[in-house]
Amino acid sequence: MEQISVPTGSRTELVDITALVEEAVRRAGVENALCTVFVPHTTAAVTINENADPDVAQDILRMVDSLIPFEAGYRHTEGNSAAHIKSSLVGESIQVIVEGGRLRLGTWQGIYFAEFDGPRSRKVWVSFSPLL
Ligand code: ZN
Repeated sequence: MEQISVPTGSRTELVDITALVEEAVRRAGVENALCTVFVPHTTAAVTINENADPDVAQDILRMVDSLIPFEAGYRHTEGNSAAHIKSSLVGESIQVIVEGGRLRLGTWQGIYFAEFDGPRSRKVWVSFSPLL
C-alpha cells in the first residue's frame, strides 16, 4: 500500500491528486492492476471528475455547499456535520484500472481529493489488486 499526503488550504476544496496517484503507481512498480484510492477521513472524500476546466470543480463545490449548508440545526456538537454528510455522499474510495503502469482515466478525468472540513493535513491510501 502507498500513502499520499494531501495538505489542504480551504474549508472546502477539490485538490487534483491525479499526479500524486500516478506517482504512487510508479513507486509500487505496478504494471496492470485495479487501483483503489481510499480516504481514511470522515470529513473528506475522493471523486473523479473533469480536470480540464477548473470551473467544473468550483461549480461542484458551490452546489454541494448550497445543498448541504454549514449551519442547519445539526445535532453533532463538533460543528462539522455538513462535512460528515458531504463525505458520505461523495464517498471514501474510487477505483481506476492501471494498464502498462499508467492510470487508465478518460480524457477529461482527474482524481480529486475532496476537502470538506479544512484546512488540514490529510492522507490518502492507494492499494492495488490483480486484474482478472
Ligand atoms: Zn465531527
